[in-house]
Amino acid sequence: MVEVELDENNPMQFYDGDSVEVLAFIRLCPNCARFVKPDDTVKINGLGEVSKEQNATCSKCGRVTMIFDGWWPRE
Ligand SMILES: [Zn+2]
Repeated sequence: MVEVELDENNPMQFYDGDSVEVLAFIRLCPNCARFVKPDDTVKINGLGEVSKEQNATCSKCGRVTMIFDGWWPRE
């Protein structure tokens, strides 16, 4: 539902949320702290809550779930 904006050097991963906010995730593996490859999209429900589904791939651990940091204001 939202497009990825991948910045290799940024430990945060952002997805389009709505017109004023973006969804911020910590782009590190929750198991081994390696940088992960985020999925192109994440799922949110009507309340703005993020799905607990796996949303990234770690080169060591395989499919993992990035930690959701919150809704950040769009610059
Ligand atoms: Zn890992």
